[in-house]
Amino acid sequence: MTWEVVIGLEIHAQLKTASKIFSGAATAFGAEPNTQACLVDLGYPGVLPVLNREAVRMAVRFGLASHSTVAPRSIFARKNYFYPDLPKGYQISQYELPVVHDGWVDITLDDGAVKRVGITRAHLEEDAGKSLHEDFHGLSGIDLNRAGTPLLEIVSEPDLRSAREAVAYMKLIHQLVRYLDICDGNMQEGSLRCDANVSVRPLGRHEFGTRAEIKNLNSFRFIERAINFEVERQIDIIESGGSVVQETRLYDSARDETRPMRSKEEANDYRYFPDPDLLPVEIDRATVDEIRAELPELPWEKQDRLVSDYGLSAYDASLLSASRAMADYFEAVASRVGDKKVAANWVMGDLSGALNKDGIGIEASPVSAEALAGMLCRIEDGTISGKIAKSVFEAMWAGEGSADAIIEARGLKQITDSGAIQAVIQQVLADNPGQLEQYRSGKDKLFGFFVGQVMKATRGQANPAEVNKLLKEMLNG
Ligand code: ADP
Ligand code: MG
Repeated sequence: MTWEVVIGLEIHAQLKTASKIFSGAATAFGAEPNTQACLVDLGYPGVLPVLNREAVRMAVRFGLASHSTVAPRSIFARKNYFYPDLPKGYQISQYELPVVHDGWVDITLDDGAVKRVGITRAHLEEDAGKSLHEDFHGLSGIDLNRAGTPLLEIVSEPDLRSAREAVAYMKLIHQLVRYLDICDGNMQEGSLRCDANVSVRPLGRHEFGTRAEIKNLNSFRFIERAINFEVERQIDIIESGGSVVQETRLYDSARDETRPMRSKEEANDYRYFPDPDLLPVEIDRATVDEIRAELPELPWEKQDRLVSDYGLSAYDASLLSASRAMADYFEAVASRVGDKKVAANWVMGDLSGALNKDGIGIEASPVSAEALAGMLCRIEDGTISGKIAKSVFEAMWAGEGSADAIIEARGLKQITDSGAIQAVIQQVLADNPGQLEQYRSGKDKLFGFFVGQVMKATRGQANPAEVNKLLKEMLNG
């Protein structure tokens, strides 16, 4: 039997507002436990929530960027449930009328094909507190700092057909919310996390199979692994005559498996009703137009522009537009040099490699775009070769100053003077009479050997094209 995998993601993005969604309490991550939740976040009697305008504007930004409809009127509801990290007994969320609905985004698959993924809805809600299990010896601690943090829950259609597609979609949303500057995208801190709904069906069947929902996946790797595990588990159950039960499961990364957490609740278990303390959210046309006018260049727009402005391949453009900071850096380099492709290669190659190695973002690069461009200009004007440039770059990374200063201090200037190169060649030929004889009696392969010797004798500083030309003349002459 061939099985088809069906996946829909519910992604929670913590919005980057300075204060909570219904109170003035701060949202900063990492504060002392229980120092950032106020009476409104805790739902004390007699307090009233006030909606954070910035959170709504951020949701609208997402709606416009994801080709969705922005609802002129949406409603906050109370979702009632009991959990230790939710002492007020209900979560304020949007249910029947979400602020954003019916959109789509395009993702690029491994083979380069483009796939459209439907966005069912994106609604605003408040986050709950956090249960802490470490350090409490058989007990649990509760930190309510997160209570009331604004979330945008982005719900996809069940359009994804493999773990890889789910990861590609999650990466796109990660990139998009960062471009829109509505979420910091920090997955380790839980600023962006998702629940994966997974089912399987015999290939060709129209109806969906029963799904399991895997909660709270906070890395791309975990999403891929958890889904793959879950798919295998479901296929095994069905092939051995059983049936999948609809339930909520947890992914245990240490064991690389999913485990049941609770049986799936139905919407009516939550006793949703409109929150009597909050007015409907009204968004007029003028506001939507204003927000639309403020949208930044979106990832796919930037990618297309890098292709048309700089002649890059779609693949290079996709890497360089991974983040706005990366693209800005590249453009700052490219605008200062002649060969845009060389600029792209340095940013994607040596620079990205060094950033990864040191675990820092491009915003904190010790080599600025101007400094890198300064070095590339020295390659272009023949002062140094591409090979020597690698060591100049390392020195710049280590803080030794500008390319010019390093080239000067280390005496790295390329030798282009043909007289000087000829003298070195003469010496190399004199030192290697055996190889010279073999070469002249037909062993052409030794040409590379002589090039190597000349480069070695000049500490890599001879102009390689010049060396090739002169060697040919002198060997064959
Ligand atoms: P709930 O709110 O109860 O979690 P929804 O119907 O809103 O359920 O769906 C949540 C997510 O589950 C959506 O992303 C949707 O695309 C996905 N989904 C729904 N049915 C299936 C299914 N049979 N297999 C996989 N995903 C599904
Ligand atoms: Mg769900």
